[in-house]
Amino acid sequence: MNRKSPLRICPKKAAGLYRNTVSFRRAYVPDGKFFKASDFWRDAAADIPEVRIKLHYRSILKASTNALDELTVLVAPKQLFDNADRGCKQSNFILAHEAGHISEEHHSENAVSKYFQLFATETGVANIPPTIEELETNYAATFFLCGPAIFDLRRDALRLADVAYCDIYYIKKVRKLLEQQEFWEEMQKLNSTPRAVF
Ligand SMILES: [Zn+2]
Repeated sequence: MNRKSPLRICPKKAAGLYRNTVSFRRAYVPDGKFFKASDFWRDAAADIPEVRIKLHYRSILKASTNALDELTVLVAPKQLFDNADRGCKQSNFILAHEAGHISEEHHSENAVSKYFQLFATETGVANIPPTIEELETNYAATFFLCGPAIFDLRRDALRLADVAYCDIYYIKKVRKLLEQQEFWEEMQKLNSTPRAVF
């Protein structure tokens, strides 16, 4: 499948995303625990008065988070939410991507709807991030679903994708950061070195 993107995330930005997202994640679950993104949204809506979920029956593939006054509303197709509940990794990744917009506080920056759009390709359905912000949010979604396990190479990528309900394409992509010296240096500066095992 051709999912090449000309967009690149710099190591400094990636390290910052990791620190921020793992901290956001730790407010929900301890490291080493995994969850479905549909459960995260359900729990957030139950616990935080400003968070709502609106499921609809139209537009099969689109999900968004909307900032309306003080409210954060996840708008998603019911089918997608149900698929996430059943363990569909792609559906969970989409819902985690929407949570990534929250953890990165994108709404406070430009206060518009954030859409995660899937595109039909010859080989199936692919997510091609149209902007650097969307690509960053995919990294955040990966950090959110996997936690520090993303950099524990004892965990096989496919098995991690299964237990964390994450897109294996992004697990492999994010792990390439480990090959970059600059990324390690940034992680050390942030005092959040991943426990990578080679
Ligand atoms: Zn998005």
